[in-house]
Amino acid sequence: MNIAIVGSGYVGLVTGVCLAHIGHRVICVDNDPEKVKKLRQGKVPIYEPGLEPLMLKYMKKKQLSFTTSIKEATQKATVIFIAVGTPSKKTGEADLTYVENVAREIALHIDSYKLIVEKSTVPAETGKRIERTIKMNLPKKFRQGGRINLEFDVASNPEFLREGSAVEDFMNPDRVVIGVESKRAENLLREVYKPLKTTIIVTNINSAEMIKHASNSFLATKISFINAISRVCDRVGADVLKVAEGMGFDKRIGRSFLDAGIGYGGSCFPKDVDAFIRLSEKSGYDFHLLKEVRHVNEQQKAAFIKHIEDKLWIVKNKTIGVLGLAFKPNTDDMRNAPAVDIIHMLQEEGAKIKAYDPQAMGNSKKILRGVQFCKDPYAAAKDSNCLLLLTEWPEFRALDFKKIRGLMEQPIIFDGRNLFHKYNLEEVGFEYYGIGRGK
Ligand code: NAD
Repeated sequence: MNIAIVGSGYVGLVTGVCLAHIGHRVICVDNDPEKVKKLRQGKVPIYEPGLEPLMLKYMKKKQLSFTTSIKEATQKATVIFIAVGTPSKKTGEADLTYVENVAREIALHIDSYKLIVEKSTVPAETGKRIERTIKMNLPKKFRQGGRINLEFDVASNPEFLREGSAVEDFMNPDRVVIGVESKRAENLLREVYKPLKTTIIVTNINSAEMIKHASNSFLATKISFINAISRVCDRVGADVLKVAEGMGFDKRIGRSFLDAGIGYGGSCFPKDVDAFIRLSEKSGYDFHLLKEVRHVNEQQKAAFIKHIEDKLWIVKNKTIGVLGLAFKPNTDDMRNAPAVDIIHMLQEEGAKIKAYDPQAMGNSKKILRGVQFCKDPYAAAKDSNCLLLLTEWPEFRALDFKKIRGLMEQPIIFDGRNLFHKYNLEEVGFEYYGIGRGK
């Protein structure tokens, strides 16, 4: 099929490359000319494992191309996915400016039947608004006497991929959700995803949009739940790792998303939880539970800082080494990374920060000021009064901790992701503090 993806970021680019991989001809659009220039040269502007070789393969086969022109993409494709950003407004509500802009521009260039699919995470009823926007902006020849004489459909197809394993997630999804209002749209989307051989959940547009909201909110709730449990564990001398293991074996609960830490971050959970709280409020329901999920998440960072203050006593003028900056491992994405807030809080108290991340140094330098960025974990540890682990990159497990202890001013580790084994670190002479491991 001929498919266009508008917005070639973390979601759009992965979607485009993977749709080419399953046999479609794909044109990816972005309004950032620099990004499109890089993509045309075969350079992937983000760090996402496995993406680059696939992208190069399908560019070579002429199944994947890039443009800045929505006009060109609209004319070439039958199915057009919208995968632009939907950031938060100050109120927490989703800002749909980019979605509206794209819908308006698609309308200007439609000349035959198109299926327009929202892949961006959007509040319920956005599908209806996209449809209305397109109708109102169609060229005059298609709007005669108040009647629309051009067929098109709008559908919802929320994305559930995770950065860091996005290609794998796209190719092997737990399910594909499609929200449609016509059989034609359903058949087209079934055809798009046929090669994936996965369960396809078909529903109406509003329900599909709700499935995305409900899924992300539930996952955020699970994380905040285990984080709240971790706070009690600290107080009663229990170990949250064992508690999560014991809970996780229960099939009704499951072990995933029960990792206590410094809280969730990234471009999705904080924004999507805020947007869902606002959407519920506007619909007349006060979603107190989700407000508390957000509150617990914020408290995790404050509790981590308090723990550091408690053990260091005076933070001012202390040197603090930081391992990991990205919001999660295997990505260079720094959007809403908890490391940013934690570093800012420590800098406010007068600490000097030395930091290292395997992939997110470039993006971190754009956001963090006054941080000494180091070439490796050992350089970050050198002369530090304590070391913070803020992203659980697997390679940090293999560090030479004897060497690190020798380099540090004081051998104290605060493990914000419970990555390390307390016993192993204590054996080489560290004071080790995890999250919810019982003080
Ligand atoms: P992103 O910021 O990485 O990418 C968005 C892209 O859209 C950018 O490259 C931007 O230049 C482009 N763009 C904006 N306006 C445009 C326009 N008018 N025409 C063409 N291109 C335009 O964002 P993302 O992380 O890929 O997220 C996109 C959407 O997918 C969001 O709604 C997000 O909530 C959702 N989502 C993200 C993830 C994730 O892990 N990142 C997962 C599931 C869903």
